[in-house]
Amino acid sequence: MKPRPAPTQDLRRATEEVRQVYADLSLRPIQRDCVRLKECCHFKLTGRTPFLTKGEALLAAKALRASGRREMPEHPAGACPMLDPATGNCIIYESRPFGCRTHFCAAAGGPYPRREVIDLIRRLESVDVGVGGSGPRLLQNAIADALSELKS
Ligand code: SF4
Repeated sequence: MKPRPAPTQDLRRATEEVRQVYADLSLRPIQRDCVRLKECCHFKLTGRTPFLTKGEALLAAKALRASGRREMPEHPAGACPMLDPATGNCIIYESRPFGCRTHFCAAAGGPYPRREVIDLIRRLESVDVGVGGSGPRLLQNAIADALSELKS
């Protein structure tokens, strides 16, 4: 059975908390600098796809809608669907998921040690539970479902 959509105020609170987690992450004294090389966005090449909690997916879906899109984009080259084929940029960069901020990327300085961000991961997990999520899910599936939930 499909989980019932969370009430609108819960969704709003959830995305505000996710935003705050990202803001708190940016204040961590860990040397890391994403210079938007976008190599990590090419899943077919890297063999790695980020997993998202539901709060992250809702925030990403909201950002996608704010860009004027109502449907899940497709990327012809097996890259992240949030990567605009026309510009080569992430459509939702300011709202990009936690994994996109902490993943393994040698050029950006390597991965965040998990112990340094475990409290933030716990907060994302707590938001996930609060909005009826089922734990981290593949980026494409998580955002597609979040888009559907925002429409309903
Ligand atoms: S959400 Fe944005 S930053 Fe993350 S993999 Fe997709 S295009 Fe790249």
